[in-house]
Amino acid sequence: MDADHIEDAAARLAAVDERIAAAAEVAGRDAGSISLIAVSKTFDRQAIEPVLDAGHRIFGENRVQEASGKWPALKARFPDSELHLIGALQSNKAAEAVALFDSIHSLDRDKLARELAKAIEHQGRAPQLFIQVNTGEEPQKAGIGPKQAGDFLARCRDEHGLAVSGLMCIPPFDEASGPHFALLQKLAEELDLPNLSMGMSGDFETAIAFGATHIRVGTAIFGPRG
Ligand SMILES: *Cc1c(COP(=O)(O)O)cnc(C)c1O
Repeated sequence: MDADHIEDAAARLAAVDERIAAAAEVAGRDAGSISLIAVSKTFDRQAIEPVLDAGHRIFGENRVQEASGKWPALKARFPDSELHLIGALQSNKAAEAVALFDSIHSLDRDKLARELAKAIEHQGRAPQLFIQVNTGEEPQKAGIGPKQAGDFLARCRDEHGLAVSGLMCIPPFDEASGPHFALLQKLAEELDLPNLSMGMSGDFETAIAFGATHIRVGTAIFGPRG
């Protein structure tokens, strides 16, 4: 990694932080209430280290296997780093995910809830959990339907004994994000959940306007994925 590249990552991170501060101000919110998850999927340790060196500690990955290949070494160097799983999770990888991640954003079905509960009890370690909601009701997309979210939350708590901290969504690729963020915000209010994981490089300012507490930003920090 050459010096220019390291400066690039730090400069892009600073630019994103500034955009967050500006969007929070417009929304009348405290920028400190918004966690920036730097999405490092597909990037190797050499690309991630400059962002850690710049002082950032919150990162997101979408695959358990990829994360378990690169993050143990990074966590050894930066023990206060915090790792979020933002991609789909197979229930047979639940134990591995509970061991590695501090937060899981893709809880969307009972089988996974059951396996996560088992792993949490067994390991005595409980990542923060978000229920993923398929706000666009797209058949091919992960997430529980908006109308099923309340019942699913109740089952997560009552049947599986899980503590759920918030909701997450990925709006349809070809639609404006605003209405989806508004729907997720309304659902979280109805269900009395404090956290909202929404907004990516292209729409995080909109997400902040709708109350996002966790934004997931990859490209704007790391550059285009190969
Ligand atoms: C890749 C990814 C992101 C980051 O997307 P960018 O457009 O690169 O910011 C956010 N959320 C999820 C679920 C992702 O898979």
